[in-house]
Amino acid sequence: ANQFGMTEALQQLGLAAINEGTSTGNSWFSNGEIIESYSPVDGQLIGKVKTTTKEDYEKVMKSATEAFKTFRLMPAPQRGEIVRQFGQKLREKKEALGKLVSYEMGKSFQEGLGEVQEMIDICDFAVGLSRQLHGLTMHSERPGHRMYEQYHSLGVVGIISAFNFPVAVWSWNTALAWIAGDVCVWKPSEKTPLCGIACQNIIAEVLKENNLPEGISCLINGDYKVGEWMTADVRVPLVSATGSTRMGKIVAQAVAGRLGKSLLELGGNNAIIVTPDADIKMTVIGAVFGAVGTAGQRCTSTRRLIIHESIYDKVKDAIVAAYGQLKIGNPLDQNNHVGPLIDTHAVEMYNKALEKVVAEGGKIIVEGGVLSGEGYESGCYVKPAIAEADNSFEIVQHETFAPVLYLLKYSGEVENAIDLQNGVAQGLSSAIMTNNLREAERFLSVAGSDCGIANVNIGTSGAEIGGAFGGEKETGGGRESGSDAWKVYMRRQTNTINYTTKLPLAQGIKFDL
Ligand code: NAD
Repeated sequence: ANQFGMTEALQQLGLAAINEGTSTGNSWFSNGEIIESYSPVDGQLIGKVKTTTKEDYEKVMKSATEAFKTFRLMPAPQRGEIVRQFGQKLREKKEALGKLVSYEMGKSFQEGLGEVQEMIDICDFAVGLSRQLHGLTMHSERPGHRMYEQYHSLGVVGIISAFNFPVAVWSWNTALAWIAGDVCVWKPSEKTPLCGIACQNIIAEVLKENNLPEGISCLINGDYKVGEWMTADVRVPLVSATGSTRMGKIVAQAVAGRLGKSLLELGGNNAIIVTPDADIKMTVIGAVFGAVGTAGQRCTSTRRLIIHESIYDKVKDAIVAAYGQLKIGNPLDQNNHVGPLIDTHAVEMYNKALEKVVAEGGKIIVEGGVLSGEGYESGCYVKPAIAEADNSFEIVQHETFAPVLYLLKYSGEVENAIDLQNGVAQGLSSAIMTNNLREAERFLSVAGSDCGIANVNIGTSGAEIGGAFGGEKETGGGRESGSDAWKVYMRRQTNTINYTTKLPLAQGIKFDL
């Protein structure tokens, strides 16, 4: 990896000598077991991180709850200034952080840079938002009364994130939480702990330069057990969790059990509908990038292509031909299109999915397989595969986090394709390729796609930060990032002020003493 400048990148991110993993801003301590982070790119050990113990966790929570008491008093536009400085530091470290994301997670360097760009974009968005945390004013039914609502800071926001967006998801949450006056405690995925440390180093520098309490940004490390401390903790009013539906169901119940708020961003099973009026060239680019980008490990990856029977063979041939062009290899080498899966466990799941689709009656039309030999020593590189399948297959109903694309056929009207697209448990991203206005509008109507994201003539993956991001059904219903997603990070208060000498009651109720 050194030929791609990894050593310099690690140094720039303060990761030259890693042995600690719990942080309240600049103070690092940790007494737990060690997680070793191996790169799926070349199988090399990148670094070691100590996990957080329960005692460490208590120290973090104390620091966070203390920091909240002062941070909430800072005017929101001044908090925006902190986020602006954070965005500036990210611009300076974009290349180094993008490289680390690529090396520790396995996505292409371009996608690693894209992830850091998303962080910069959400910072810019949050800076503007810091002057727009609007509430409404309403007319009171009582004379001489004023009524309005305002948004107050919420407290400690617990962030649990997945391996596949090891830095961006944290910033989607933190940028908004910080301008809202909240403080954050982050548990990154145990599969990408160094990305967590790199991000914490960057924000800690900003906090220090501004003489702000460290506890505004805390980091804890470990597996689900460390996450469970937060989901059970009444000091954490909001838990924002990104990951599998399996995890989300456990987290949702734990947080609801204490009547806390949860923001859930869970699994997808995303489809592109290809109608007879589709532009085939655009369809191929959108579908192939959607299916093989990040080696099929995006929550918005294209899993299913629902193609009209009249153009089925044409689209199929074009996609199969495009798969023939794919170069699989080191994601830091920009000539490659597809990098590795996160680990060998993910490779096993990929193999099982391919076996299962055949066992259920599917037909493999682009062969998969695990690559070995020079450049593939990590054992995590697989060939993107395509199978013709049926929407009712159990494996098609399931999110396999790997580059396996299912081709499904529909006949008749676009409604039939919409039924197939909606006929899964998840509801994250969806797309239609068509130049037919009626079809496009039907897809976007109330009787159309049931997903949180519905695109026309764009693939399923690659959202912008300006819109609210998230999905319905088993995707969990949460919304992050743009639009009014900031509201979940604040508490709403309705205020009524009486400036008369009388005390009229609402609804005209009489009560005289
Ligand atoms: P995962 O569910 O295995 O782990 C995600 C995080 O949850 C990790 O930090 C893990 O330690 C933690 N966790 C697991 N069980 C927990 C528990 N009981 N209590 C508290 N924390 C717990 O997911 P993964 O393999 O890292 O990521 C892949 C999944 O994430 C896919 O399903 C993908 O679709 C989903 N994802 C969704 C979005 C979205 O925005 N909707 C974005 C990225 C990834």
